[in-house]
Amino acid sequence: MRVLPAEDASFEMRMPVVVVGAGAAGLTAALALRAAGQEVLVLERDPVPRGSTALSAGLIPAPGTRWQQAAGEADSPERFAADILAKAGGEPDAAMVRAIATRIGPVLEWLADRHGLDFSVITDFRYPGHSACRMHGLPSRSGEELVNRLREAAEAAGTEILCEAQVTDLYADADGRIHGIAFRRPDGGEERLGCGALILACNGYGGNPALVAEHVPQLAGALYFGHAGNQGEALLWGEALGAATRHLSGHQGHGSVAHPIGILISWATITQGGFQVNLEGRRFSDESHGYSEQAAVVLRQPEGIAWSVFDERIAGIARQFEDFRQAEAAGVVLSAPDVAALAAATKLPEAALRATLEEVEALKQAGATDGFGRSFAHQPPLVPPYRAVRVTGALFHTQGGLVVDEAARVLRPDGTPFPNLYAAGGAACGVSGSRAEGYLSGNGLLTAVALGHAAGEAAARA
Ligand SMILES: Cc1cc2nc3c(=O)[nH]c(=O)nc-3n(C[C@H](O)[C@H](O)[C@H](O)COP(=O)(O)OP(=O)(O)OC[C@H]3O[C@@H](n4cnc5c(N)ncnc54)[C@H](O)[C@@H]3O)c2cc1C
Repeated sequence: MRVLPAEDASFEMRMPVVVVGAGAAGLTAALALRAAGQEVLVLERDPVPRGSTALSAGLIPAPGTRWQQAAGEADSPERFAADILAKAGGEPDAAMVRAIATRIGPVLEWLADRHGLDFSVITDFRYPGHSACRMHGLPSRSGEELVNRLREAAEAAGTEILCEAQVTDLYADADGRIHGIAFRRPDGGEERLGCGALILACNGYGGNPALVAEHVPQLAGALYFGHAGNQGEALLWGEALGAATRHLSGHQGHGSVAHPIGILISWATITQGGFQVNLEGRRFSDESHGYSEQAAVVLRQPEGIAWSVFDERIAGIARQFEDFRQAEAAGVVLSAPDVAALAAATKLPEAALRATLEEVEALKQAGATDGFGRSFAHQPPLVPPYRAVRVTGALFHTQGGLVVDEAARVLRPDGTPFPNLYAAGGAACGVSGSRAEGYLSGNGLLTAVALGHAAGEAAARA
């Protein structure tokens, strides 16, 4: 993982644009490049492109889309940008947030119209912090489908994707212009390739324990639930080049990963009227804030474990997600006809669990707010059979990274852009600020797809 002097390298082959990483960001960038008639080579370290994109629910927030309009959902880029900024406490750059919130809707419609990605909008629940139903997903609501469809579209559009090619080094001159890269093949062989422009789409540093300990110490040693190949090369190369970095402590955590099996349990289990208790059978937080900040909160509980408690109605909503269906098939979503059976199945103390459940139901009936600050107004009661899952907190991905402008150009600390270097998705600083609670659901794929598109367009123009 080095940045080496360009003068020392010769390149037998050269591509106009090289993209590092074939997740949502890299593949969207490739599609934008091909739409502009530009040749592009995507280098991917894995045998098959998956990335964190494949591990996600594949849900992308976008305002003012035709799917929202058809569903009668009023929304606008301004409203979306306001939600992002409110969740992140005003930390991200407001102009950047507006640009991304404005770009994403048309990009999703373009992916649907031009490349056949069959998006629809989720209207049966809203994620915390979103003032409109604006999460768009493909039919299976899985990131695996998203990355597969993007890859198929990119290949059909004439993108070359070279798998099992891990980029190790960049070659740059004194002005920060990238002349080429080196990549390693599975047999240990090294190859060098010249490029006219380079797009970093290799995500963040969640898979690098040393960088997590340095930048996100509260989750050091926590379960990492993202793609193991996200080792932080973009950050390390950027630092070596003297690029500006920002919000390196920012991240997306999740307080609802079924443990020990490791399956994401949709946060709809909580927002729709469920709650979490610790091993003492007691609630410990305002779960309605958001799943990201809940990761560290759950990890502070005894054994780092919580039980998410909900009912069959809520399970019916969560069942639209492939992950939840898998969790049910694996038998980790327990079912119990009453509190005594629930306590027996979960091994939680029955008296405490009963008291917690009664308290929550009384709060719902009164439409009241509890001592943690969670409002139970308009939350339907839980109706037996109860459902419960044993969960822990996990790190999903980092949100800090290289500072880019609206065209995804990597910037120096003085705000000037590098001549031909771009970053998108988890490689770039996102729009979540420096804290876990700054992550608004969907910020990950939002910046992957919107900045990937911006990077591809800009690199094609350059
Ligand atoms: C369990 C889970 C659920 C999530 N759910 C959602 C959701 O519903 N909505 C949402 O918006 N976000 C979600 N996220 C976050 C989202 O998945 C990421 O923000 C997004 O996928 C980032 O896309 P990317 O293209 O930047 O990175 P990735 O999809 O990780 O792609 C990066 C690619 O780069 C490759 N790579 C890395 N280093 C190199 C190298 N040196 N050389 C070559 N290739 C390299 C990797 O192998 C990988 O394929 C979730 C994350 C997780 C883990």
